[in-house]
Amino acid sequence: MSEQQSYHGRRTVEEIVDAIYKSYEADNEGDGLPWSIRPSSIGDECGRAVQLAWMWVTAPRKFDGRMLGLFEAGKRAEDELIRDLKRIGWEVIEKDPARPTKQWQAKVLDGHCKGYLDGIGRDRVVSGPWMLLEMKSHNNKSFNKTKKYGVAAAKPEHYAQMQLYMHVFGLEVAVYSFTNKDNSEKWKEYVDYDASYVERLLEKGSMIIGKRVLLPRISNNPDYFKCRFCDHKGFCHEGAVPERNCRTCEHSRALADGAWGCDKHKCALAHDLMKAGCTDYQLNPMLLPTAEETASSRRSRSRAPAAPVCEDQEA
Ligand code: SF4
Ligand code: SF4
Repeated sequence: MSEQQSYHGRRTVEEIVDAIYKSYEADNEGDGLPWSIRPSSIGDECGRAVQLAWMWVTAPRKFDGRMLGLFEAGKRAEDELIRDLKRIGWEVIEKDPARPTKQWQAKVLDGHCKGYLDGIGRDRVVSGPWMLLEMKSHNNKSFNKTKKYGVAAAKPEHYAQMQLYMHVFGLEVAVYSFTNKDNSEKWKEYVDYDASYVERLLEKGSMIIGKRVLLPRISNNPDYFKCRFCDHKGFCHEGAVPERNCRTCEHSRALADGAWGCDKHKCALAHDLMKAGCTDYQLNPMLLPTAEETASSRRSRSRAPAAPVCEDQEA
């Protein structure tokens, strides 16, 4: 009999909550290293952040059980948005008819950017055309901002994701459905396909998977808001050494159809092998800090304003 069971036959509430969080963590045991680029991340305003994540330069952040529970709640809210459309007469196809148990999959950039659609649907009440369906949940602040300014301005990563999916499936319009996690308010926005925007996204993606040049930093200032909260701040601004694995090795190469290979050993690279690397590892020179970048980070840091003095703090 475990210690927990022996305590009057019940676990403490803390133990129960902790066990729930741990169960989420156990279900999420992957290493978090992305095989391909997420279509939404291509819309990130810092192309370098996308590149560094895809090249496994920085160890991925681990989410705790509470955060994983929050993601689950978001997913449930998104499922509800699909049900809402069906309730008001939309026809929604969530799975790919060619692979009926799987979601529709979209691939671009030679298979190195890959994602899954929430669905394709049409409003039968008005005999509408087939449209891409994208469902998202937001916190209160993000919901209000998106409702006010539109998804392109407020959530550029979701906008990019929809544009790429429309591109792959030849759809002219998307319906962006979003819900407020705090009060269940719902809103929608029609988004038209923008071919020239997609062209620019794909150009950016091609530069990333070419793996020849490091894209520029979004800011030289480590205190710039985006850098401050970025997983790659250590690499970009603090001289952290890239993680040692095949992706950061100069001998690895992105191949066709989302595959990777090693030029040195003339072999294909699977996920676990790639994670481990080998003794012939050579850091890709594009990941060496340039003297100019190091100096500009240092200059920005020395110019950074001192912490603001609170109004009620004595001078
Ligand atoms: S630290 Fe800043 S420049 Fe570097 S990847 Fe992150 S956002 Fe981009
Ligand atoms: S040389 Fe070794 S570390 Fe480099 S890509 Fe090939 S297998 Fe990976």
